[in-house]
Amino acid sequence: MKMNNQIVEMMNQAKKAPCILCGCPSVHVALFVPKSPQDYGAKPGVSRVIAYSLCNACFNTPDGMTRAEKLMMEGKA
Ligand SMILES: [Zn+2]
Repeated sequence: MKMNNQIVEMMNQAKKAPCILCGCPSVHVALFVPKSPQDYGAKPGVSRVIAYSLCNACFNTPDGMTRAEKLMMEGKA
């Protein structure tokens, strides 16, 4: 269950960070599973999960999560 603890810890850390899109205090934590984990420092064959935070407004925007994931894929987050 070590992996689950890591995810919980990661989500707790993300919760303290501001919204990835607008910088407002965050309310929601979402998980991003990149299609190319190696781009995020994972070894080949190892998957990677990235936690990020969103405020209520961005979370409720239909494309909020898509935009946040696009930022991470472009390495801008
Ligand atoms: Zn926001």
